[in-house]
Amino acid sequence: MAFVALVGGKRLCTLGQEPHVLHDLLSAFGKEDKLCQSCKAPVFLRCGGRRPHFSHYPSSRPDSCKTGPESVEHLESKAEIARMLKKAYIDLGLAVSVDPEPRVPGGIRIELEVSLPDGERIADVMVSYPGGAQHAHEAQLAAIGMAELQKRTTDYHARGIDVTWYLGGSACTDSNVQWCHEKLGNCYSLAVSPNYNQDLRP
Ligand SMILES: [Zn+2]
Repeated sequence: MAFVALVGGKRLCTLGQEPHVLHDLLSAFGKEDKLCQSCKAPVFLRCGGRRPHFSHYPSSRPDSCKTGPESVEHLESKAEIARMLKKAYIDLGLAVSVDPEPRVPGGIRIELEVSLPDGERIADVMVSYPGGAQHAHEAQLAAIGMAELQKRTTDYHARGIDVTWYLGGSACTDSNVQWCHEKLGNCYSLAVSPNYNQDLRP
């Protein structure tokens, strides 16, 4: 499950887009032109009562795919983080846009599922500031240990990217929350339930 696919070689984010608009847009491309940005396997658009998103074809997702078998909750978490960040910047009087909205010249840009240049990591939500600084926002619901949190955080810091963790489900343990506070100075908790009928577009 992903909001973003490579369509005709370019990023396409489905967030907030109407299904019929997406179907029209995608109809111009063949199966081999709609690919997972991580493993490059073909993906297809799924709608049906929930936010439009891309899925791998059954049993075609390689184990090496870094998008993982994401849950609806994780998908919703990313959308909610983007919505919350956009609102926070607007409340501060700052210019901001969320992919696939048109960019605001000189404004803050929020994008979901951003593949880092070496392809090793996909940031759940990436905020890019006009001066070039970037801040990754990571939603983590599956169990994770402090060593892995440290590794992923170090990966971002090595690239000059700040990171904030949003922990929910099995990841929201006392030790992980404490680690985030001690190492990063902040930590958010996630309590997102799948609500297939509610449109939370940012
Ligand atoms: Zn994939």
